[in-house]
Amino acid sequence: MPETTQGPRAHLALETTEPTAFGYGFISGLLSAILGIAGLGLVLSLRFPEYLTQTDLRALYASPYLRAALHVTLVVSFLLGSISAVLRANKTLAVIGIGCTLWAALLGGSRAQAGGGAGDGLSWLAVDFFVLNLLLYSAIFVPLERLFALRADQHVFRRQWVVDLTYFFVNSLLIEVLTILTLKPALILFDWARVAWVSGAVESLPLVAQVPLIVLVADLAQYWVHRTFHAVPLLWRFHAIHHSAEEMDWLAGSRLHLVDVIVTRGLTYVPIFVLGFSNAALMVYVFLVAAQATFIHANVRWRFRPLRRVVATPAFHHWHHSADREAVDRNFSVHTPIWDLLFGTYYLPDRWPTRYGISRGRGVPEGWLGQLVDPIRRHAPKRPPG
Ligand SMILES: [Zn+2]
Ligand SMILES: [Zn+2]
Repeated sequence: MPETTQGPRAHLALETTEPTAFGYGFISGLLSAILGIAGLGLVLSLRFPEYLTQTDLRALYASPYLRAALHVTLVVSFLLGSISAVLRANKTLAVIGIGCTLWAALLGGSRAQAGGGAGDGLSWLAVDFFVLNLLLYSAIFVPLERLFALRADQHVFRRQWVVDLTYFFVNSLLIEVLTILTLKPALILFDWARVAWVSGAVESLPLVAQVPLIVLVADLAQYWVHRTFHAVPLLWRFHAIHHSAEEMDWLAGSRLHLVDVIVTRGLTYVPIFVLGFSNAALMVYVFLVAAQATFIHANVRWRFRPLRRVVATPAFHHWHHSADREAVDRNFSVHTPIWDLLFGTYYLPDRWPTRYGISRGRGVPEGWLGQLVDPIRRHAPKRPPG
């Protein structure tokens, strides 16, 4: 009797063995879960704007269209969750979708009102930014990775997707804090390095000239910071977390230790600030780096052959994550391989890596919390196998 030996937990397992094609309740369940999480996030943001909203997004909350869209989102999530619950033995997605919708309804649904007032201060947790990010990226990358998959047998809910979603969640939620922690040190500590005529000249350049320049400069800084993270054992402990992903997709790119994010972003902003790029150029750069850093991890088979020496592509960065010996410490750039070509670390053969992950030293724990504390724990010497 498989029902009793597996028990009720099989109905709520994160990994599913049932078909995922149309008609099996998978697509409805997935959409229900995504919309339910998004709806709940928005309701929480409406209730607690002073704690949970990103400063720039607060202007949107007065719009009646936002509340109408939220209402539709919650209703659709509930209906799709119910359909999935009927069609599928594994109820995990339906429970997530319906559960989030009910919780959102209890908090007031699309009529939720703020208790305090939005205020202008910094919020510590940008739930709305997470929601927006999740909707945007999953709407782009989930279909893209289905249609043009490099590894077609790799599921959306591959092994360890929960860990990577946790990184995506935490790093989006902390966006305001991380922005302050990465921008402020550059502004305060390197003010002395600014030369008025240089910054004046850079700022007066048209935006179309500033953007390629800022990308080149930032990528050069990022290249050396990244390379140092690979070369210095203490720093490698933090960066090893990023390399511990053994399956590549857009979500795997989120797996970055907070120290890695703060140090890398913070040092990359130094030349940007010292050279005096305009705020508009900085905004475009911030958008570009988020988009390209996500894209180069994606499970897509496009090689962009004519651009292989100019633009960092998924193939280029997949080799950076390869566990094959010949690819170790190669391809450090995020935007353009020019720096790797110049400094002798470019590696891009006409095939794809066979395996990803850490090929040297010790491995890292599997959970988010374990990975957070792992680099600062004292490590006992590894016992020889056997
Ligand atoms: Zn790396
Ligand atoms: Zn990566």
